[in-house]
Amino acid sequence: MADETIPPTTTDAGIRVQSDEHSLTVGRDGPIVLNDHYLLEQMANFNRERIPERQPHAKGSGAFGHFEVTNDVSRYTKAKVFQPGAKVGALARFSTVAGERGSPDTWRDPRGFAVKFYTEDGNFDMVGNNTPIFFIRDPMKFQHFIRSQKRRADNGLRDHDMQWDFWTLSPESAHQVTYLMGDRGVPKTWREMNGYSSHTYSLINASGEKFWVKFHFKTDLGDGNAYLSQAEADEMAGKDGDFHRRDLFDAIARGDHPSWTLYWQVMPFEDAKTYRINPFDLTKVWPHSDYPLIEVGKLTLDRNPTDFHTEIEQAAFEPSNMVPGIGLSPDKMLLARGFAYADAHRARLGVNYRQIPVNKPQCPVFSYSKDGAGRTENVSDPVYAPNSYGGPAAQPDLSGEAGLWYADGEMVRSAYTPREDDDDVSQPRALIRDVMDDAARERLVTNIVGHLCDGVSEKILRRAFDYWKAIDADTGERVEKGVRAKLGGKSEAPGMASAEAIAEQEPAE
Ligand code: NDP
Repeated sequence: MADETIPPTTTDAGIRVQSDEHSLTVGRDGPIVLNDHYLLEQMANFNRERIPERQPHAKGSGAFGHFEVTNDVSRYTKAKVFQPGAKVGALARFSTVAGERGSPDTWRDPRGFAVKFYTEDGNFDMVGNNTPIFFIRDPMKFQHFIRSQKRRADNGLRDHDMQWDFWTLSPESAHQVTYLMGDRGVPKTWREMNGYSSHTYSLINASGEKFWVKFHFKTDLGDGNAYLSQAEADEMAGKDGDFHRRDLFDAIARGDHPSWTLYWQVMPFEDAKTYRINPFDLTKVWPHSDYPLIEVGKLTLDRNPTDFHTEIEQAAFEPSNMVPGIGLSPDKMLLARGFAYADAHRARLGVNYRQIPVNKPQCPVFSYSKDGAGRTENVSDPVYAPNSYGGPAAQPDLSGEAGLWYADGEMVRSAYTPREDDDDVSQPRALIRDVMDDAARERLVTNIVGHLCDGVSEKILRRAFDYWKAIDADTGERVEKGVRAKLGGKSEAPGMASAEAIAEQEPAE
């Protein structure tokens, strides 16, 4: 007798099928037939299971939970999600940057830290990292940066030579590379790492006053410094490539719910004009002594996905998801990300990606977008605005948006105007000298030496020594000594053949 607790298998059309094991054949030993629609459906679906992976941040995982406000920050923002007593659903996703969808979780890399807040005013996404800064400050360089961290054209291998080539030719990377080569370059678990907006965002309160803000999610599990040594990370990469994914899932499954306290650094709007550091430069932090942390609320993750594909792989985070009360800033990287993420989702998931349940706002949507592949929500007339038939109408009283600022001048292609204390080395130097202790500095040097001794050519090595000496003379000396001792003289890594050299090798016509 059939077990009534087990549902019957059906086709995707809901029609019951007779066998999960046998295809339809002509006689028991005969050929299969084309009218076995269920077999065809299974094969066709299987062939289409994979969707394009994210480029970058392909490898990651996440979980659901909630965000709850614990302090009164209404003097800075009118955003409903940050008003006293507010509690909203949330989704967080953590990831490595350069690795592919199946790559080990413990490769040295910054970690993505993306949070989606499902608010009554629409989705607010904070698409940050586990570092408060980034490698570059102009979006023109982003594509090149990521390519240098991924794979070579010829052998399809990752290549430390091209990584250090890019970094040492981009001195603004010094702060982030210091962070990356330190303990936080391989966090022990996602649960124990901090998350940062990295970018500066804007806030506007109910009276129309504006502020600049940086988000800091500090783990409630330790001090944010739990790490794996390079040796532990390498071993784990072989033993359990999904170590971080597994750790998060297992912790939530056993009721050990990770949480982070959200703090803000808030800068009065006018300060930005004269602050000694460009407050919109993504390679810089705002020292805590200038802008102390203000507690805002708590993010807790307490529900695992039940379908990784639909809830995590298809999750689409985008910095352009801003709710009234929060806005972008003149950070050039952030402005570019405002376009790039939504565009990446359109390419990867289709133009109607916001109708995939995990991305769907939990408030009514009255948009004029229409049709397109994958649309599941009905649209209704009128399909244009303005109209005389009661269609949705925009709200002029939303004026006074966050994210609005002053700008004028010629159109130029140029670096940010430098401020008094804008340089690329002071902050990483402070990190090494003032924040790390002797043991952390020792690990930093060991990590850099190990990285440089893995396929970096002599020409790039020399530049790397100068790069570190400019950040911190002692660290630079120790790195050079360590590399020379390990390599016993010059590097034998070939580096990349120049275009001219390749042309010379090609047979003459
Ligand atoms: P502070 O002494 O006030 O802050 C130093 C901060 O460094 C700590 O609060 C902690 O931030 C973070 N930290 C501690 N250990 C490590 C580590 N091993 N690797 C990376 N970060 C660590 O000084 P400042 O605010 O003046 O900043 C000094 C330097 O500290 C900066 O140049 C920057 O490199 C680094 N830093 C600064 C942050 C900021 O927003 N001001 C944030 C993080 C690092 P947390 O509690 O966020 O982990």
